[in-house]
Amino acid sequence: MAEGLLPEAFPLEPGPARVLVVEDEPKLAALLADYLRAAGHEPECVADGRDALQAWTARRHDLVLLDLMLPGMDGLSLCRELRALTGVPIVMLTARADEADRLAGLELGADDYIPKTPFSPREVMARVKAVLRRSRAATRPSTPPLHIDAQAWRAAWQGRALDLTPNEFRLLATLASQPGRVYPRSQLLELLQGDARAATERAVDSHVKNLRRKLDQAGAGSECIRSVYGIGYSYDA
Ligand code: CA
Repeated sequence: MAEGLLPEAFPLEPGPARVLVVEDEPKLAALLADYLRAAGHEPECVADGRDALQAWTARRHDLVLLDLMLPGMDGLSLCRELRALTGVPIVMLTARADEADRLAGLELGADDYIPKTPFSPREVMARVKAVLRRSRAATRPSTPPLHIDAQAWRAAWQGRALDLTPNEFRLLATLASQPGRVYPRSQLLELLQGDARAATERAVDSHVKNLRRKLDQAGAGSECIRSVYGIGYSYDA
């Protein structure tokens, strides 16, 4: 790090984490464990859902890397059971073709997904790092720039009031309730009311576009709502 620059100018390195790897293919599990160890993390590998639940309950890892295709309890059921217990970050590994699975996983509360074909351990590590950084930032006490008062239906960016329609407010409040989490369009569509276009997911895009413009005008930048191609949106402040 160059001298004279504030550390705050750099993204915080998430540091070592205990990662539960749920993967039944031994070679892939070993590869993931090697990469995690090389990045300074502490992996624990289990091959099925029941072992995963036992391991997590006993040791409460910092992150779960979860393959969707598992013997016995499948990855989606495991994701649902874990979510009933904990807000631990869950990163799913999925085959690219299984878009339905990907959406289902995100709807069940997974934080991110990574396609398995082509499989890139580097991408896995990049996502693990990003998800850890987000989850640790979320637990760090700080004054968030975005203030949402759900009772008064008011939102402000660094004290500047945002003039939002009710639909824009619902979208922003939902996205910002879990920063970094990707919300599928289908789920966001359910928030829209009194909009004739709400029969299609295009309506979500149109409201997000307006929301971004208003956030940008308030000084938040237009990038704080991130598009996840083919899936939906997340709030990344
Ligand atoms: Ca598998």
